[in-house]
Amino acid sequence: MRHVGLRFANRPANHYGAPAGAEAATFTNAHLLRPFPHRSPDAAGAGRSMTAPEPVLRVAVSVPVRHPFDYLPPRPGWSPPVRPGMRVRVPFGRTFAIGVVVGVAPASTVDARRLKRVREVIDAEPLLDPATLKLLLWAGGYFQHPIGEVVVGTLPKLLRLGRAPRAERNVWYRASAAGERAFADGIAGAPVQARLLGRLLDAGSAPEAALADVHRDWRRPLRALIAKGWVESTAEPPSGSGASRTAPPVLNAEQQHAVDAIAGRLDEFSPFVLDGVTGSGKTEVYLRVIEGVVARGRQALVLIPEIGLTPQLLARFHARLSGRVAALHSGLSDGERLSSWTHARDGTADVVVGTRSAVFVPLARPGLFIVDEEHDLSFKQQDGFRYSARDLAVVRARDAGTPVVLGSATPSLEAIDNVRRGRYRRLDLPHRAGGATPPRIDVVDLRQRPFDNGLCDVLVEALEETKARSEQALLFINRRGYAPRLMCFACGWIADCDRCDAHLVFHREDDRLRCHHCAAERALVDECPGCGSKNVRRLGLGTERVARALERRIEGLRVARMDRDATRRRGALEALLDRVHAGEVDAVVGTQMLAKGHHFPNVTLVAILDADSGLFGVDFRAPERMAQLLLQVAGRAGRGDRAGRVVLQTHHPDHPLLRVL
Ligand code: ADP
Ligand code: ZN
Ligand code: ZN
Repeated sequence: MRHVGLRFANRPANHYGAPAGAEAATFTNAHLLRPFPHRSPDAAGAGRSMTAPEPVLRVAVSVPVRHPFDYLPPRPGWSPPVRPGMRVRVPFGRTFAIGVVVGVAPASTVDARRLKRVREVIDAEPLLDPATLKLLLWAGGYFQHPIGEVVVGTLPKLLRLGRAPRAERNVWYRASAAGERAFADGIAGAPVQARLLGRLLDAGSAPEAALADVHRDWRRPLRALIAKGWVESTAEPPSGSGASRTAPPVLNAEQQHAVDAIAGRLDEFSPFVLDGVTGSGKTEVYLRVIEGVVARGRQALVLIPEIGLTPQLLARFHARLSGRVAALHSGLSDGERLSSWTHARDGTADVVVGTRSAVFVPLARPGLFIVDEEHDLSFKQQDGFRYSARDLAVVRARDAGTPVVLGSATPSLEAIDNVRRGRYRRLDLPHRAGGATPPRIDVVDLRQRPFDNGLCDVLVEALEETKARSEQALLFINRRGYAPRLMCFACGWIADCDRCDAHLVFHREDDRLRCHHCAAERALVDECPGCGSKNVRRLGLGTERVARALERRIEGLRVARMDRDATRRRGALEALLDRVHAGEVDAVVGTQMLAKGHHFPNVTLVAILDADSGLFGVDFRAPERMAQLLLQVAGRAGRGDRAGRVVLQTHHPDHPLLRVL
């Protein structure tokens, strides 16, 4: 048997372990993933074992090196087979490292006397199945990234530290008979308890995650219900039991067409682009297709942009699917992440909903891949291991022979191109689901109307009306900080970044000037460094300035800001979203963060304060992105049963792009 190794530069052995052989092969070579033949003691022979070469284990270690390292089994004649996908502890430099075996070869090109032995085999069974390992090796090669950082670096932290995969059992609840009677009699004075009980009666039984969107403060009322004996904990329902009793809506014709098209191809690789604006019922299509996949005993992986993965969305999945839904996102503790990962790998989760990095999670029975808002830039990891989760989802679907659905209000150029070439099939959802009226769009020509701090009179009136109806507004301005420019009116000096020549942005919260390109900052100056004049002014609009102006302009308006500065603190975004959902905010001023899939049922007014900033960007993708934002933001307004209104402020009302919109 001729050994075929990984393709690497031929390197000398070093004290870290030995680099793997230099023979030609590809990362995807099946050979690499095959367990080495288990050699029985008599086959090896007592006499011959002294000279017969021992198998060599190729181990990926999380260091920035392209190749795996060769090691020998823990002892000569080691008998339990060490298979690819198992974790091992190996001597590495002066210490030990935990790595993953990515291949087993009959011999190393490195002198056997220089090979070190694996110290310990951590897993009795491979942690990673061959399909996942193959994906990781392929991704490392395709995206040109060190193999150890890909194979080991994408594991949950606790697995990198050597912990065993472990899944927590979810706690489930259901209403007791007494609870059902109490609900029927009406629960006065405890509205949140009543809603929780109602939710449980609808769902039959539900895990905590399915209750989280009922109210910001839901744990205390739930405990009260348990104390009264109206709610009890219960066993988790078995896979695919469809515990839900939440009645799904009747699909409209386009949704039904989409569901039928995807459901008709569950046994083959079939890529779809689901093209529909926010509110057109894409998620409903996903849910329906997933139900079919789960009913056949298979799993679905759903990737969502970080910011779109809200408690509301998870609750919707939980309520509609059997509840065996595992979430993977940045808000989890290490233990929770390990648990979700393990549920996915072991198949005890039917559906995995996660952000970018969830694309690497092993699935016991993959049956469907979905990428929601596939055009979203957050699917591309921008530093370190630069991969595209969307592309990897397509690769996984191809390997597994399943459908992959790329959903978007505004498909990326790549997706459109693939549709044109006939590689992907396009499904359209041209109408809003649920019969909501499309929003009214007012294009305000700023050349013709008075405006102050970015707020024209049309907008101020619309805001007052919205507030009077106890509804909410989103105001979009694509610049954080107070003013994007500090300029001397005497000599024309502008505060620029020393490092990169961008204009410095004035942040009023701490009186600092910041560069949004390179993060350089310095103190505010009130005297011009060029001419000494005090006539230094703050020009342009940022979220801080608009938020302040709003508070001054409309009495009693409760304004919140949603941008990178306001949400940097851990938990701040969730807290902000909670306040919005609880109706404690009338208007949210934010950057493009606003446009990313949050569900704001009470928002009926959306304003785009400076539509021009996106229309004339230098980036060729700027118009595309702007169009996506507008459509999505417009999609925000008027979901549910209220009609929405969009106010779009521009100096160029005749711009062709605006006319199209
Ligand atoms: P998207 O994912 O495209 O934004 P959703 O699936 O979230 O759209 O649907 C938007 C809203 O319309 C949701 O409140 C959803 O429950 C509702 N909806 C979706 N499909 C239908 C339908 N066929 N009939 C009634 N309401 C629907
Ligand atoms: Zn000056
Ligand atoms: Zn800079």
